[in-house]
Amino acid sequence: MFVVRVKCPHPDCGKSLIDPKYVLNGAPATIMKARKGAKEGNIQLSSIYDDYTVVIPKELDIHEGDIVILSCPNCGKPFPEMGVCPDCGAPLAKINLESGGEIVICSRKGCKHHGIEFSNSNALLAFLEANSALK
Ligand SMILES: [Zn+2]
Ligand SMILES: [Zn+2]
Repeated sequence: MFVVRVKCPHPDCGKSLIDPKYVLNGAPATIMKARKGAKEGNIQLSSIYDDYTVVIPKELDIHEGDIVILSCPNCGKPFPEMGVCPDCGAPLAKINLESGGEIVICSRKGCKHHGIEFSNSNALLAFLEANSALK
């Protein structure tokens, strides 16, 4: 399994989105701020690649198929948009990997589209090394 450690893509923030206070399926969770309409709150996502576990506070009222605006819980700025999801047409949000490279995730609840992009082979190696260090 791969643990995907992400951080805020805004250069003036860059804070890790991993919060070890929360654990999902054995790995520290990724925390993001989600907004739907006037409601906003922090959601927990699994940091394990291909694990779609997500914990959403009830008061946010987010259901399957809803599109949310995802932002950094630290600086509050929305993640940059990277075009639209090829599977469902919702905006894609771009987030950075701690080890280098980036990941795009779909902003629609329940859509499983996501992808990791490495800018070069060093970023890929750093990602794999960070993962092997966990074992
Ligand atoms: Zn931030
Ligand atoms: Zn999608």
